[in-house]
Amino acid sequence: MEVSFGKEVQLLRLGRGDTFHGEGILAITKALLQSGVSYVGGYQGAPVSHLLDVLVQARPYMRELGVHVQACANEASAAAMLGASIHYPLRGAVTWKSIVGTNVAADALSNLSSPGVRGGVLIVVGEDYGEGASVIQERTHAYALKSSMLMLDPRPELGTMVRMVEAGFALSEASNMPAIMELRVRACHVRGSFECKDNVTPAVSTLQPLPEPAAFDYARLAHPPVTFAHEKLKVEQRIPAACRHIAAHGLNELFEGRPGHHSEVGLIVQGGLHNVLVRSLQQLGLADAFGASELPILALNVTFPLVPEQLAAFCAGKRSVFVVEEGQPDYIERDIVATLHRLAVQIDIHGKDLLPATGEVTVEALSAGLTGFVGRYLPQHPLQSARAWLAANTQRRDAVARQIARKIGTPLPPRPPTFCVGCPERPVFAALKLAQQQVGPVHVAADIGCHAFATFEPFSSGHSILGYGMSLASSAGVSPLMQRRVLSVMGDGGFWHNGLLTGVQSALFNGDDSVLLIMKNGYTAATGTQDIISTPDEDAKAREPDKQRSVVDHDATIESTLKGLGVQWMRTVHTYHVDKMRKTLEEALTTPFAGLKVIIAEGECQLERQRRAKPWIANLLKTGRRVSRVRYGVDEDVCNGDHACIRLSGCPTLTLKDNPDPLKLDPVASVIDGCVGCGLCGENAHAATLCPSFYRGEVVTNPTLAERVVEALRAPWRRRLQLT
Ligand code: SF4
Ligand code: SF4
Repeated sequence: MEVSFGKEVQLLRLGRGDTFHGEGILAITKALLQSGVSYVGGYQGAPVSHLLDVLVQARPYMRELGVHVQACANEASAAAMLGASIHYPLRGAVTWKSIVGTNVAADALSNLSSPGVRGGVLIVVGEDYGEGASVIQERTHAYALKSSMLMLDPRPELGTMVRMVEAGFALSEASNMPAIMELRVRACHVRGSFECKDNVTPAVSTLQPLPEPAAFDYARLAHPPVTFAHEKLKVEQRIPAACRHIAAHGLNELFEGRPGHHSEVGLIVQGGLHNVLVRSLQQLGLADAFGASELPILALNVTFPLVPEQLAAFCAGKRSVFVVEEGQPDYIERDIVATLHRLAVQIDIHGKDLLPATGEVTVEALSAGLTGFVGRYLPQHPLQSARAWLAANTQRRDAVARQIARKIGTPLPPRPPTFCVGCPERPVFAALKLAQQQVGPVHVAADIGCHAFATFEPFSSGHSILGYGMSLASSAGVSPLMQRRVLSVMGDGGFWHNGLLTGVQSALFNGDDSVLLIMKNGYTAATGTQDIISTPDEDAKAREPDKQRSVVDHDATIESTLKGLGVQWMRTVHTYHVDKMRKTLEEALTTPFAGLKVIIAEGECQLERQRRAKPWIANLLKTGRRVSRVRYGVDEDVCNGDHACIRLSGCPTLTLKDNPDPLKLDPVASVIDGCVGCGLCGENAHAATLCPSFYRGEVVTNPTLAERVVEALRAPWRRRLQLT
């Protein structure tokens, strides 16, 4: 990948006496090294990609420490890596995006949790839930409950997060349970500082390997009949051991509240929501500017298992407690209610009756819930200002909606994300639109990846998304029951993650008559443009930094893999060749060949290409050398205003402007400054025989002497023509 994490790698080297300043996810990465981790693996995904990205770029330093770093093929392979800690006293950490990654890893996690671990295990997951989430709205908490794994949800403050990494390993070792640490988007990006410790060189490492394998121990296999004993161990030994350790080491934090203030009520909060709670209390005038609360707070940095005695002690003598928990089902609230009931603690418990059942717990949502709670149990506390603030928020939104409705007659349409300017995947969907005009509409099994942007306008393409790399597999039920052939779209990231086995192998084995379109952009682009096995080597980009990299530079191409597996109908087409792509799609959808047909749409991720090209071009300009950049434009005198080009492209730099002709009302198409000259506008105009309003220009900086002479001769004639 073209992004450099050089500065972040340097931060990992900080030691005792140094202060770390930076983001939460990097603090977690540093904490892993301070905890003496022997191995780290994972599969990238927001918001935790940085953890693995930074460690991969820090490999030379990891070699110095003896820490093994593995960029895994998918989350299942990352979870399986944790098997190293079943027998051996090795601390290991893996990372991925949840819930999707945890779903992929679920089999290995069950089989890890059953025998339990000897060395501490920490699974750092990006809890991609709530506002801005890019996946299904489910909580990782369910996995901790079902497989008996520890669930850590640290308070988003760097010192606490770092302490919880170290404590998480110790807790895992004390209980033999693997630990999941969930980090919300805001926790990953929260900024702060903490006092560093020296990194710990692990006792067992790549520098000090184990001399012998462990002795055979059937009890450490996840295999019946010993799994029956494992189930009992979880309940009778491991969870009680975890509870003892959590209480003894103060992993959950008690904030007593100001003495003499409102001790008759209390708040129990998931650690990760503590900052939101404090901000809400400030809105209600119940916390000072430094975050000191007037109400007692129990912040659960460990949300599973809960410690019954700790809950009972916190609730003792209180009239009511408000449980702040995000999302559904309300696992924690129900656990607290059941625990207190069993312990015969008489108290009113509130939570989801005052909070939204679904979605992110924002400051506004929590403030509304707290207002109800405080109004009922602390009636003497003034709430006018909080209520006025909440009402003003609603009024402001309503006023904006009314203003928009007055101006444009309808509510503002949502602005979905879209492909980058010049993305190589956009032309494929333009070609698909054109192909369907010939063969008729086709069922499109879509997938996870940048190509999923095609589900938005102007393409609106895709009937289902069943998981990363699962498109072809998801078409298996539709395809035999559909008169017209089914098309499955998959990225190269998804292909290597899962699609090769679940999709291609199954389709070949079952003789599926369908079409697979693989977007070969060279990276797992949607997760941050990480390299994959088919990413070409570094020499290729060094030779021509501004050129599209061709994956034929690499031995392990997708084509050779598919050929080896027995795919007989395969075409590789450059994505920007819209007409060729259209014809290839039409052929694949209508050919008499009845087996699996694979089209490989080759075109390097434009984002990666620009990251490489921009510094190279800047350097050329700095040194006074010639630089030529292609730009497309629309001749506004020719544009007839039907905007067919925009409906076929969707490029954000191809937009509209007022018609300069006072006799024409329709706005004209216009290419604005961000155009990277990818060529799609020209290709679309040709493939769809659009109006001839597009032109291609070259912007030359530092032209040669010959170019200056030619321009000097041309310029007067051009000016004269413009005047006539
Ligand atoms: S990251 Fe790359 S592949 Fe993804 S939308 Fe942008 S240019 Fe396209
Ligand atoms: S050529 Fe067209 S599609 Fe390509 S970047 Fe420019 S405006 Fe966008």
